[in-house]
Amino acid sequence: MAAAEYDVIILGGGPGGYVAAIRARQLGLRTALVEREQLGGICLNWGCIPTKALLRTAEINDLLHHLDAHGFSADNVRVDFAKVVARSRAVAKRLSAGVRHLMRKNTVDVIDGHGRLLGGGRIVVEKAGTVVGESAAAHVIVATGARARGLPGIEPDGALIWTYKEALVPERLPQSLLIIGAGAIGIEFASFYRDMGSEVTVVEALPRILPAEDEEISAAARKTFEKRGIRIHTKATVQSVEKGRDDVTAVVDLGGGVLSPVTVERVILAVGITGNVEGIGLEATRAEVEQGHIVVNEWLATGEPGLYAIGDVVGPPWLAHKASHEAVVCVEHLAGVSGVRPLEPTNIPACTYCRPQVASVGLTEAAARANGREVRVGRFPYQANGKAIALGETEGLVKTVFDGSTGALLGAHLIGPDATELIHGFVIAKTLETTEAELMHCIFPHPTLSEVIGESTLDAFGRALHI
Ligand code: NAD
Repeated sequence: MAAAEYDVIILGGGPGGYVAAIRARQLGLRTALVEREQLGGICLNWGCIPTKALLRTAEINDLLHHLDAHGFSADNVRVDFAKVVARSRAVAKRLSAGVRHLMRKNTVDVIDGHGRLLGGGRIVVEKAGTVVGESAAAHVIVATGARARGLPGIEPDGALIWTYKEALVPERLPQSLLIIGAGAIGIEFASFYRDMGSEVTVVEALPRILPAEDEEISAAARKTFEKRGIRIHTKATVQSVEKGRDDVTAVVDLGGGVLSPVTVERVILAVGITGNVEGIGLEATRAEVEQGHIVVNEWLATGEPGLYAIGDVVGPPWLAHKASHEAVVCVEHLAGVSGVRPLEPTNIPACTYCRPQVASVGLTEAAARANGREVRVGRFPYQANGKAIALGETEGLVKTVFDGSTGALLGAHLIGPDATELIHGFVIAKTLETTEAELMHCIFPHPTLSEVIGESTLDAFGRALHI
């Protein structure tokens, strides 16, 4: 191996890579981070953060349309769409600058360019195809992320057929949209654009929207989105698209030989993502790639000694917080920190920031039952929660899944206001391997939405107090 200039080199500065760099410096490792675009990766620049800024605008827009319920009246409320987009971009920019500050503060060497593995811990950095440097380290971590998948015949063109990137920076509000795919990306954009006033149609190949969520939560989400006027076709695909000058006509295959044409201004493709495994020199190593993702063990190590991979590039769930946690596990393990524990997949929460929000952790009811366990399920509606009624946001449900014999919390599933914040209660409980007995011992402040955590736990054991 070449003489190591660094202890760790990381390829990619998203929530996996930059967190790995910070943790490595905290442990005293000489660390370099190679990034070819903006620090913060897709999450900060083109994903989690700017979408949340847009969704906040949508939330305000919705409130403005229901002022009457709170005793207000206002005329002529207008929206400047360019300002909405500019605010979202400013939020992303501020956070990316924040990551640069963190790199400086932690004395991480940030190398601007595209990193490629040469094998044996060496990497070469290129800019616009020209080699600008070479480095070596005892440990190299690949954190190159993932990108949107296309569909044959429906490739994004940046103009009429969008990926999440174009959907984040529209020049104006499209009057009508077809969204292909009802996972987190499809549903968040459906929610945003519908709230802002677009006609939205969603086409999903599987039998339900948000198919990774508990069936009851998917069904509740569908009901509320349809009530808001979002057209949803499940078990459906888009057979073909024909582009016009400023619109697209898509033929939706509704199944059973039924074809339905729909003409929209724009199409958003949200059918999943695939790992960025190309052009990074993996072929110069013994790392294996399967179905577009790097194969790693529980310590995020590849088949090449000293080479690790974390985050979206190692496969699902493709979530920023999973990437950051893997970063910490990976760096602590390679640094020989004692007591490091591998990531437990059933403790990774999932959040979709549509309106109402959806969040979950652990096993769905169906998955728990499929494990052959005796299962106890609790449910509690937001409409029986005092704070929700005071807020005027009573739509939603909390569902808890417990092991019937041990009382262990197996999963929790929420749809409703602040679901993406409330899920933390269940995440802590599940990570601490809590049973119903400890949860029933917790005192939830009144009046808060968090009382739904206690009540849905009580309900699983036939003891709910407020229903
Ligand atoms: P996804 O895998 O979550 O959803 C894609 C959906 O498209 C699936 O439901 C799939 O069945 C459907 N689909 C696939 N092919 C289709 C076809 N030909 N026709 C119709 N439907 C089809 O992927 P995504 O929504 O693109 O998001 C990518 C990743 O980013 C996901 O892992 C997601 O969890 C993550 N993400 C997370 C958040 C969040 O945490 N809030 C937000 C956005 C994205």
